[in-house]
Amino acid sequence: MSEKVYNIAVLKGDGIGPEVVEQALIALREIGAPRFSFTEHPCGAGCYLECGEPLPDATVEACRTADAVLLGAMGLPDIRWDDGTEMRPQIDLRILLDLYAGVRPIYLYNGDHSPLKGLGAGAIDFVILRENVEGLFASMNGGIELRGEVAVDSMVITRSGTERIVRYAFELAVQRARSPMRVTCVDKANVFKSMAFFRSVYDRVADEFPDVERDYAYVDALSMYLVQRPRDYDVLVAENMYGDIISDLAAGLVGGLGMAPSGDIGPDAAVFQPSHGTAPDIAGKGLANPIAMILSAALMLRWLGERHGDGEAVQGAARIEEAVQRVVSEAGAGTPDIGGTMTTGELGKAIIEVL
Ligand code: ATP
Repeated sequence: MSEKVYNIAVLKGDGIGPEVVEQALIALREIGAPRFSFTEHPCGAGCYLECGEPLPDATVEACRTADAVLLGAMGLPDIRWDDGTEMRPQIDLRILLDLYAGVRPIYLYNGDHSPLKGLGAGAIDFVILRENVEGLFASMNGGIELRGEVAVDSMVITRSGTERIVRYAFELAVQRARSPMRVTCVDKANVFKSMAFFRSVYDRVADEFPDVERDYAYVDALSMYLVQRPRDYDVLVAENMYGDIISDLAAGLVGGLGMAPSGDIGPDAAVFQPSHGTAPDIAGKGLANPIAMILSAALMLRWLGERHGDGEAVQGAARIEEAVQRVVSEAGAGTPDIGGTMTTGELGKAIIEVL
């Protein structure tokens, strides 16, 4: 057994964050190897109320130096800045640590979870690559509001930013090795200069990967195709805002946000968190589905394993995914969002028993 111990910064955050993180930590301890040292750090709206800031510098530094970060969810609708905007420390963290690749696997674990008819487990299996640090979100703190009458946010697309996310997408397609390997460029190149530029950069990077099929879809049409023929997709790459929107649509195809894990990955750091937010409507009620968080922990294991050449970590990821598969393959097993009657703790325990 490897002696490696990974230092993991844990940011539980607000709402259902702490409830789902707790289940992921139990699962990670249960797999036995590799081993982890978990250190909790304050963040989120609750932290703002206590110490005056939602993302203290010490927390950012701890995330920078950790081997990886596990994040629950942050922000609460009633706790806002003076200008009325919500606190978004999880988005700030992406920028501060340059976590440019938003990796969102969409996988159907049980056909009953999907609103689409006639699909079995595994029939939906694709990954959305969301560019995380530019695009429309580049305007996040810099949009213009003039005389209370005009408001402008700008779409910012850079060559280097597009190249690296598109390259990540093609490399991922090669690694997934599906037949055929395919990367879909999601844009609106027929209307916007910024999107035509995004597509031209995609084309140049695609030249480096002759074995991977090129595919193009305008974001509006793609929203329909994803519902009509989700089997056609392998890896999709999109600018920040389009990636944000299609991620939620895609999560809806496989059971909702409680089934959608994600990784925010940069050259030197990575944060793993469920695609959902703090879900204040169900916080503290034992209704939160912990699977998205547990699968995010599995993504973290795979990332650590590949980065450090650690076979046990990669195996651990596969074991967690198999355990989730086994538990939810039984009809009615799960929390209410996926048609079950289990509580957060009961579902976590069922997965841990299989592990
Ligand atoms: P944010 O702005 O942070 O994304 P939000 O309230 O818009 O927050 P979510 O917190 O993701 O979005 O919640 C959207 C809906 O999905 C809510 O009705 C919530 O109860 C439900 N939901 C989100 N996560 C889960 C989960 N893990 N288990 C069950 N239901 C969930």
